[in-house]
Amino acid sequence: AGLRELLASRIRDVPDYPQPGVVFKDITPLLADPAAFSALTDALVERCTALGASKVAGLEARGFILAAPVAVRAGVGFVPIRKAGKLPGEVFAQSYELEYGSAVMEVQQGAFEPGERVLLVDDVLATGGTAGAALELLRRAGAVPVGLSVLLELGFLGGRERLGGHLDGVELDAL
Ligand code: IMP
Repeated sequence: AGLRELLASRIRDVPDYPQPGVVFKDITPLLADPAAFSALTDALVERCTALGASKVAGLEARGFILAAPVAVRAGVGFVPIRKAGKLPGEVFAQSYELEYGSAVMEVQQGAFEPGERVLLVDDVLATGGTAGAALELLRRAGAVPVGLSVLLELGFLGGRERLGGHLDGVELDAL
C-alpha cells in the first residue's frame, strides 16, 4: 500500500470528542507505529529539502511531535510556536479566533535569521485559524514561510479558503 493508505490506516476517528458532534482525528496509533511515523517523517523531510527550508517550525503540541524528527533528519533547526506564556524572553504574540473565544500563540524574537525559509508543520488543518496565526507570526519574526505541511486537512471546514492570502508563497500540502 502507498504512504497515504498507511498513514490513513493509523489515524483513528473518535466520535463526540472533545465535544458531542465532533469527530476527533486521533494520531496516536500513527505515533505508536515506527514504520508509519518514520515514513511520515521521510515524506516531510523531502518537502523540507525540496522547499529549501532551513528551519522547521512546529505548532504546540502535536505539531512538535511531528516536526522535531523532520528537523533532525533534514539537518535543520527546530523552532517551537507555543501557546501564550510558555516561551522565555522577548516574543511575538498573535491572537486568533477559536470556535468559542480566542487564543494567543507566540514565537521567540530572534528565532530566525531575516529571510530564513521555514516549513511549518502541524497535525490537522481544520478551520485554518491556528495555521493562519502561525504564518503571521513567522513573517513578523522575519522568516519566509515556504511550506505548510499537515498530516490531515479537514476539507469540509474550509481552512484552505479561509487562509487565503496567508498562503501567498506557501505550498500547502496534506499527506
Ligand atoms: P484550526 O485552527 O481550526 O485549523 O484547528 C487546528 C488545530 O486544532 C491544530 O493545531 C490541531 O492540532 C487541532 N485540531 C483540530 N481538529 C483536530 C482533530 O480532529 N484532531 C487533532 N487535532 C485537531
